[in-house]
Amino acid sequence: MELELNETQRLIRETARSFAREKVAPGAAERDRNGTFPADLYREMGPLGLLGVNVPADLGGAEAGPVAYALSMMEIAAACASTSVGMAVTNMCAELIVKFGTPAQKQKFVPRLTSGEAVAGSFALSEPHAGSDASALKTTAKRVGDTWVLNGAKQWITSGAYAGVLVVWARTDPSVGKGISCFIVEGGTKGLHVGRHEDKMGLRASNTVALTFEDCAIPAENLLGQEGDGFKLAMMALDGGRIGIASQACGVARAALEASLRYLKDRTAFGRPIGDFQALRWFIANMKTELTAAELLTLRAAWLKEQGRPFTREASMAKLYASEMAQRACDKAVQIHGGYGYIDEFPVERYLRDARVQTIYEGTSEIQRFVIARELFKQAA
Ligand SMILES: Cc1cc2nc3c(=O)[nH]c(=O)nc-3n(C[C@H](O)[C@H](O)[C@H](O)COP(=O)(O)OP(=O)(O)OC[C@H]3O[C@@H](n4cnc5c(N)ncnc54)[C@H](O)[C@@H]3O)c2cc1C
Repeated sequence: MELELNETQRLIRETARSFAREKVAPGAAERDRNGTFPADLYREMGPLGLLGVNVPADLGGAEAGPVAYALSMMEIAAACASTSVGMAVTNMCAELIVKFGTPAQKQKFVPRLTSGEAVAGSFALSEPHAGSDASALKTTAKRVGDTWVLNGAKQWITSGAYAGVLVVWARTDPSVGKGISCFIVEGGTKGLHVGRHEDKMGLRASNTVALTFEDCAIPAENLLGQEGDGFKLAMMALDGGRIGIASQACGVARAALEASLRYLKDRTAFGRPIGDFQALRWFIANMKTELTAAELLTLRAAWLKEQGRPFTREASMAKLYASEMAQRACDKAVQIHGGYGYIDEFPVERYLRDARVQTIYEGTSEIQRFVIARELFKQAA
């Protein structure tokens, strides 16, 4: 694996870093407090290539590859995890359509996602009774003339109330265990209803909603990939998505470490900066070591993807380790800040709340361990 970044990767990281510092970070605390969805930021991120980092340039992407994508996610997440999750899902939807879409689907939907015109993309897989076990989903799609008619309920859909383009999974053959297909649905389609905005512990500026499909008819040509291949598409998309969440975790942990370093220098106790105390120095030494390990795991998974090599196990390892690392790092950052860590005068309580979901979404830590072990057994056989 090449550890030096190339010119394109450096450029996209710099672009993301400047945008994160100048535009994303300043309003992050306020958006978190008020639950304000960062639609304007997404409209600005499109022209910078950040909504399609690994998408061909002729479809409006940056064509910079998965490593550049991971690096840019780390930068945006370090400024605002809420903003980064919508960015991650939009990139994931755009990549999925690039990989499996017909030429007409690519031309119609991908530029809307990459430009920010669609505001965001949504990935509608989970249902009230089917999260980890996505194959148990119950939403149906029936072919009626030249349409597919969708009925059912989705749960926890990121950016669902704002997304102009959604990829949605539904059962097309109830007689087959995984008779699931994938569809592209435009936001605002008749029969697509947006439900309750979930009131979350963290990521409060991201939008998480339930969606209901009630005789929602979409054009037949909006089937993405082959009929019955939907589960495979979902699992492939999630492999890439896990690199995104691992990157998000690295970004949040880095922000927690940087805030801690500032506080360790500024705060005094017993007549000296608290950074003089060995107990707290050990915290930051561990934070930095674990963060670097997580970054390397994440970039390695992204690099394998970039090489066109298998990366399922590596993406799960990166997501598992980075998300659990971020929670440890943010918890220690709160501890370093003492009482001030527990109030919203400092950002570390937000980091801790934002990091909490990372071991849950896009596959819980238990599911990542299941995937890693399954891949190991496959290899051993
Ligand atoms: C803020 C947020 C945003 C989200 N965004 C999206 C989105 O945009 N699109 C989308 O489709 N989904 C989204 N999700 C859903 C998310 O992916 C699921 O919550 C997650 O996959 C877990 O599913 P569940 O909540 O149904 O938990 P369950 O599957 O019910 O799991 C409950 C517990 O059982 C454990 N468990 C389950 N199966 C096993 C097993 N085989 N072995 C060991 N332990 C197991 C789990 O690890 C967990 O601890 C989002 C969730 C949140 C909270």
